[in-house]
Amino acid sequence: MLTKKLPPLQRFLSLVSRRASHATRQQYDVIVVGGGHAGTEAAAAAARVGAETLLVSQKIQTIGALSCNPSLGGVGKGQLVREVDALDGLCGRAGDWAGIHFSILNRRKGPAVWGPRAQLDRQRYRTFIQSELLSTPRLTVLEGSVEELLLSETNPEEPGTHRVTGIRLANEGTPISASSVILTTGTFLSGSLFVGQSESPGGRIGDAPSSAGLSHTLRERLGLRVGRLRTGTPPRILKDSVDLSLAHLHPPDSLPTPFSFLNTHTRCKPEEQLPCYLTYTTPGVERVVKESLHLNCHIQQDAKGPRYCPSIESRVVRFPGRQHQVWLEPEGLTSDLLYPQGLSMTMPPDIQLRLIREIPPLHRAEIHTPGYGVQYDFVCPTQLSPALQVKSTQGLFLAGQINGTTGYEEAAAQGLWAGVNAARSALSMPTVALSRTESYIGVLIDDLVSRGVTEPYRMFTSRAEYRTSLRPDNADLRLTLKGFEEVGCVSPLRYQEAVRVRDSLQEAQAALQTLSLSSQKWRKALPDMRMSETKSTLLTGMDVLQYNDVTFEMMSSAFPESLSRHMEFAQRLKIEAVYKPHCDLQKKEIERIQKEENMSLPQDIDYLTLPVSMSQEVREVLDRVRPSTLGAATRLEGMTPAAIVHLLNYVRTAA
Ligand code: FAD
Repeated sequence: MLTKKLPPLQRFLSLVSRRASHATRQQYDVIVVGGGHAGTEAAAAAARVGAETLLVSQKIQTIGALSCNPSLGGVGKGQLVREVDALDGLCGRAGDWAGIHFSILNRRKGPAVWGPRAQLDRQRYRTFIQSELLSTPRLTVLEGSVEELLLSETNPEEPGTHRVTGIRLANEGTPISASSVILTTGTFLSGSLFVGQSESPGGRIGDAPSSAGLSHTLRERLGLRVGRLRTGTPPRILKDSVDLSLAHLHPPDSLPTPFSFLNTHTRCKPEEQLPCYLTYTTPGVERVVKESLHLNCHIQQDAKGPRYCPSIESRVVRFPGRQHQVWLEPEGLTSDLLYPQGLSMTMPPDIQLRLIREIPPLHRAEIHTPGYGVQYDFVCPTQLSPALQVKSTQGLFLAGQINGTTGYEEAAAQGLWAGVNAARSALSMPTVALSRTESYIGVLIDDLVSRGVTEPYRMFTSRAEYRTSLRPDNADLRLTLKGFEEVGCVSPLRYQEAVRVRDSLQEAQAALQTLSLSSQKWRKALPDMRMSETKSTLLTGMDVLQYNDVTFEMMSSAFPESLSRHMEFAQRLKIEAVYKPHCDLQKKEIERIQKEENMSLPQDIDYLTLPVSMSQEVREVLDRVRPSTLGAATRLEGMTPAAIVHLLNYVRTAA
């Protein structure tokens, strides 16, 4: 997969432009508006499902641009990248192509919550995404700004229900028809940029906001509830002006772990990877922030910002007297810029310079581009179905930051799923949903459509109740087979590879189960193993592989005849063995809930004081609705699988 040769950038851009100018059709199955992380995945997925697809974006050159941090993945987010890849999406392979510093975060915890992450070369990432889109059959790319959605009333008797019929480009451009339209306008919808006390229209530095007509259609014609959120980005710093000897070196993993299930290695060789550096804020930073608060209108606005990626102003105001981490990260293999993660700021540029120079490695630093903030409209996502379709408007799908999320990975995951469903809907196939029990994408979408957002939403492993089953290592087995057999977004090549992996793992697990020996015999076979079992018990290879100090490699050398041929899957088998007991239990829980769908719930339950672990939000919903069966309870807004299990256990024991 990594052997692909990409065209040099200039030639490539001219190819894209030529392709763009040939977008002469006036009718598509699917039109995707916006070429960010949601839009690119949406367009590619729709085309993979079989829809004639048009991607319209304001600037061809910014398709696939990383607006903020040059990195992909992380805890919770890495799981999303793996799942997008398992469904044949782009971002995992783009990450492997563009990564210049790979690391697995959270390694001290169990593999279920490891977070695959990479620093990226911005240019390489964008080039890869653009090249993929260009070579995707049934996909046309067009440069342009969408001004308006074309709509028709679905039922004149029932005003307020619409069907989308296409788009109109800005400057009274010709209308283009489509059965489905996906909006992925990111931070651009009624976007405003902030630096110091100045505010100007914009979706990102150097880019105009999305036209007012689009906002107007959503608010006024479709009557959608729209809110306002904000985010910000740090200044970019000239690398040569930084004294990196005063920061702590943070090397990458010695062996990069690819994101994509199709890749065995990354484009960047282990020894070519670049380090990151860690430094800290000083009391001087706090002083500069406090002295300049009155010159900073972004932070005085009401719109909510990302809680888990706050600006330096918010950090100082919320946690005065603390030192805050600042990561100095490379922007590319040959880039002369550094990205100071943790220093997102919106004060005037001269004060930004004063602030960064309060940090020892940045004493003489020069700013290439100042930090800035952006505020934008988002559509309250409870107005969407689990297919990411606007409930009141047939054929209109939304994905990415427009739904109140933050982050490339969250955008990519929604984009892919909206693309799948927009295509299926256009091709008269039923839409499909992913559940919380099978994927982080399912958790993300369920959280958005059933709970909505009050601040920019980002993924965490703690949001997934079944995280021990939803691991980054097994996303292919969870999703690739379904993606091919039921959804239609996975290529035969990827499917065949997933089938091979599934069959090989099953064969290897069967071989481990067949190895059934007494504990004494296991001790003899694996002398380095510390086994607390004193009684003579029969244990299978799967049981023994669960022990901390036992590796598949050790077992394979002890039993080469039955195990050595499975060495390719040594790490996956170890992880499977460790989590098997817990996952088996979870699987039973899920099956039990499905079996007990029709179980009646007593009408006199006092949900507000129920002696089980349940959030106040869930209690209140149950109290208000008083569902008659367990099945009805599972479908309530905000209900989690964990709460259902507690409710089921409570009713069973109380009966
Ligand atoms: P975007 O990547 O924003 O892409 C939107 C695309 O739509 C663009 O290509 C745009 O040109 C196009 N477009 C918009 N309107 C139209 C139209 N009418 N017609 C045609 N094309 C249109 N994420 C984090 O996780 N942490 C952060 O700290 C963070 N900080 C950020 C700071 C800034 C200043 C910005 C701009 C973004 C930041 N992000 C951050 C967010 C991150 O960039 C987004 O989450 C992610 O890019 C969202 O992807 P998207 O596809 O939804 O939208």
